[in-house]
Amino acid sequence: MSAASRPDPTSGATPVVTRIAPSPTGDMHIGTARTALFNWLYARGRGGKFLLRIEDTDRARSTPEATQGILDGMAWLGLNYDGEAVSQFERAARHVEVAEAMLASGAAYKCFATQEEIEAFREEARAKGESTLYRSPWRDADPATHPDAPYVVRVKAPREGVTVIRDEVQGDVTIRNDQLDDMIVLRSDGTPTYMLAVVVDDHDMGVTHVIRGDDHLNNAARQMTIYEAMGWPLPVYAHIPLIFGPDGKKMSKRHGATGVKEYQAMGYPSAGMRNYLARLGWSHGDDEFFSDAQAQEWFDLSGVNKSPARFDTKKLENICGQHISVMDDDEILSEVDGYLAAAKFPDLTSDQKRQLAAALPSVKGSSKTYPQLLEKAHFALVQRPLELDEKAQKQLTDVSNGILKELTPHLQSGSWNREALEGAINAVCEAREIGFGKVAGPLRPALAGRAVTPSVLDMMLVLGREESLARIAEFTAKCPSA
Ligand code: GLU
Repeated sequence: MSAASRPDPTSGATPVVTRIAPSPTGDMHIGTARTALFNWLYARGRGGKFLLRIEDTDRARSTPEATQGILDGMAWLGLNYDGEAVSQFERAARHVEVAEAMLASGAAYKCFATQEEIEAFREEARAKGESTLYRSPWRDADPATHPDAPYVVRVKAPREGVTVIRDEVQGDVTIRNDQLDDMIVLRSDGTPTYMLAVVVDDHDMGVTHVIRGDDHLNNAARQMTIYEAMGWPLPVYAHIPLIFGPDGKKMSKRHGATGVKEYQAMGYPSAGMRNYLARLGWSHGDDEFFSDAQAQEWFDLSGVNKSPARFDTKKLENICGQHISVMDDDEILSEVDGYLAAAKFPDLTSDQKRQLAAALPSVKGSSKTYPQLLEKAHFALVQRPLELDEKAQKQLTDVSNGILKELTPHLQSGSWNREALEGAINAVCEAREIGFGKVAGPLRPALAGRAVTPSVLDMMLVLGREESLARIAEFTAKCPSA
């Protein structure tokens, strides 16, 4: 393959078109999400297009649920694609057309070998210690000798020399052509194979950069045969290393969640997920925490590591926490809705939504996930009568009763702002010669039904005077008298 036939990735002359081409055969894998993200970043950072193609040619394994899962996953991760999602299966007629064009030009041929003949060929090759790659006797047969029998269409792969995959991540990868087989492009029932469909679709969709998992590297050499046969320009290839688990093996269920949906159901913010997945196998100096705009500006194939990245849940959580703390409240509220639906929890009522919105400023700075956020905002989401957890019940004492009763008049008058509330608590501290924590001790369970809560001042500010006083009265009514 001559280098001249490839577009120059650095020239900027051709507008960039990337794509993600998942097979809808199960839950959308986190690795697919990362590949989609890299393609999205690459295109968006260059004013290019990012396309989605559903590779549903394998009818036995493709399901509409899996396709929906991909669409949902892309939507959750904010990976907006241009135009409509393309169904590969629906393009079968076009794939056949290309196979026929290759037949007509002599770049492909009809192979009438039966399964038994192919097996016999392989047995013999094995016995002789030779390559078992099938070499069809029909490759150079005169069409006049063709029988009236079922056939497959094979592409004529080069047998001499080498094929060099100029890969933007792996470097030049050289494959000896005597290791390429004449792969089947049309099966005996006339249906196109996946290997043909990928190339035809990428060409027709104008894909300039194929960024995908390195498990497809060997396919690239074989797919290049079709580009060559059709005289089509090759895309720029970038085969990225797969994601590994902490033990250095390919990320699988053994390591925990692998499905994109599972991450949404665990309550990670999508911006944090994008940031973490971008860092998983790509780096820009020492930057760990960044925005989409920065990632789009910085992302380049030269920053993609050659060795596999290891998934690290702690890092994911840290990055997610940083994102939640700077996200707009509206965005958090809408993502919380999505999280609750994904986790199959009931929706928040409109009152709870209002209360959560009020509580956000005091809880978003310290939450790494949405379940943590909701846990911290628990005080705002519950209604009287409050249920007291075990630790809160321990505060139902005469001492608590005395402290809270003394605090009450201070809260009944004066302003309802941070300084005034702090002053009210300090007044009790001074009168009783006790520290702030001794007042906060019973005040937390009174306000939240729990002993571990955000700051008492934050809670009172969110709840307001009337509700705070009502909760304190409800609590003291349960305490033994002072
Ligand atoms: N459908 C393939 C997969 O899900 C991707 C093929 C490609 O990106 O070229 O692994």
